[in-house]
Amino acid sequence: MEIYLDNSATTALSPAAKKAMSSAAELYGNPSSLHSFGFDAQKLVDEARKNILTALGARNVGELVFTSCGTEATSLALFGTAFAKERFESKRILTTDSEHPSVSKALERLDGFGFEIIKLPTKKGVIDETALSEALKEKIFLATFMMVNNESGALYDVANAFAEIKKKYPSAITHCDAVQGFLKTRFTPPQIGADLVSISAHKVHGPKGVGALYISKDMLKQKKIVPFLLGGGQENGMRSGTENVIGISAFGAAVADIYPRLDATISHISALREYAINTLSSLELKLNIPEGACAPHVLSITLPNIKSETMLHLLSRSGIFVSSGSACSSHSKTPSSAMTAFGLTPKEADSTIRISFSEYNTKEDIDTLKDALVSGLTTLVRTGRR
Ligand code: PLP
Repeated sequence: MEIYLDNSATTALSPAAKKAMSSAAELYGNPSSLHSFGFDAQKLVDEARKNILTALGARNVGELVFTSCGTEATSLALFGTAFAKERFESKRILTTDSEHPSVSKALERLDGFGFEIIKLPTKKGVIDETALSEALKEKIFLATFMMVNNESGALYDVANAFAEIKKKYPSAITHCDAVQGFLKTRFTPPQIGADLVSISAHKVHGPKGVGALYISKDMLKQKKIVPFLLGGGQENGMRSGTENVIGISAFGAAVADIYPRLDATISHISALREYAINTLSSLELKLNIPEGACAPHVLSITLPNIKSETMLHLLSRSGIFVSSGSACSSHSKTPSSAMTAFGLTPKEADSTIRISFSEYNTKEDIDTLKDALVSGLTTLVRTGRR
């Protein structure tokens, strides 16, 4: 039997999403077409948009632009605001030192275009308040903070940071990468003071290759964001390209399935994480628990002098799937910058695995993981394969 504990990398499609995909596959019209096939397809897109805006608590205050993934939603947020005319007021962008590469690499590009990027430390999973006050001595035009760190599970106090920023510079734009926070914690964009919020379908039991950017109505009214995919003017002109109707419809269905059960889902996943902490704390491991708030679905563990990849392969052979850092950083050979920002040494970061839960996991999965870890630790120490 396989035990999937890599839900931060991606999640299984929910039955609701699968059903929506197969129904949408029958409706092959182009949403832009002016005949009934087109209207039917557009109806699916609109319904998904309504479901997702409802789950964001934002039907009256914002618009949702569908994209091809969370990464594209963030690129639209960052490049779209940087290239709107607002950029002339200030070229300073505030962020953290532990963002997902979809943010940090986009900011590297903007640095190349002459923007100044200021990174706030997030040691032990907490945004450094002193560094934030220091950074705000000079005007910023954009702040981009992730809600939940995909590797440590730290739930950053984005609401407080954005409030500080808006208090000092009301016209500053705030973007939150909520790809790991959406439907893992309750929030609305106005509550956290975000003008822009990125989300992704495949982290919430929807399909891969669909994401969305929430944009507040004020941002649109004041033209503080411009599109970077230009063409047929789909998505209200904010993202040209024929919509992925099947994916979008399934995204909406996945969200509509979870949202009414959100409190129960969050408590189930939180209970699993608590159980894992209690169960694994007796082992020779270091649990990287953030000092501030945590998301319910992520637990980071540092192994004693064993490379994470070695353990990952051993567990994988027993049918248990975890991650060595994030799926994206696993393509790079350098230790995870998110975990070094958390406070681990590069060597510790290289020995760190991430377990991440979904509503489909059970306590028995964690018991099995514990047994496999005990046996793995014994084998690797005995054979010297560290
Ligand atoms: N932001 C965070 C925090 C993530 O964890 C991920 C994916 O792992 C992304 C953005 C990118 O999302 P997508 O895979 O939909 O591009």
